[in-house]
Amino acid sequence: MPQHYNDIFTANKQWVQSKLGEDEQYFEKLSKGQKPPFLWIGCSDSRVPANEITGTAPGEVFVHRNIANMVIHTDMSMLSVLDYAVNVLEVRHVIVCGHYGCGGVLAAMGQKQFGLIDNWLRHIKDVYRLHHEELDAIEDESKRADRLVELNVQEQVFDLTKTTIIQNAWAQGRFLQVHGLVYSIANGILKDLNVTVGDNSEIEGVYKLQIKNKILV
Ligand SMILES: [Zn+2]
Repeated sequence: MPQHYNDIFTANKQWVQSKLGEDEQYFEKLSKGQKPPFLWIGCSDSRVPANEITGTAPGEVFVHRNIANMVIHTDMSMLSVLDYAVNVLEVRHVIVCGHYGCGGVLAAMGQKQFGLIDNWLRHIKDVYRLHHEELDAIEDESKRADRLVELNVQEQVFDLTKTTIIQNAWAQGRFLQVHGLVYSIANGILKDLNVTVGDNSEIEGVYKLQIKNKILV
């Protein structure tokens, strides 16, 4: 593990050399542009790096990370990433990836104050409230936390489908799937939660937005 700030530059030089050793035009090719098929919305946790755990290379995943992989409708950063990924890069898959043992989810399950972050974690508490009957019935606290991690991912998938960005892409007949995944830090396995949504048909009630023609032009 690097101990000093300067270690990252030493490692960087070695990495550049190894990439150039494999392909001397590696950086030249990457600098021409990106066309990643995936948008990844994951947790900021240092143990869940999008590229490494999916076997993808630079240029293959557009990434947004925040504490507990949240999709919050007033988060301009997330919305900008989503809009750019869907409408400019034209990604085909949006992935929300949570992970077991997520510190944000664990904190949201308790009642301790942590400061500013409590306002962010409040959104996870809302997920708990939506599913409190199922969660309260799980006696084992770590199993309950694992289930909340999964339900939180599922709700963030649904939150993505509530955005005009995703709904308008579907209205245009675009292929765009939104997936929910959970990663296990303990064994490295990625699990598909089977909550994939690929069109407007599953969007309920007030969340189903009218499509404005002028947006589609
Ligand atoms: Zn986390």
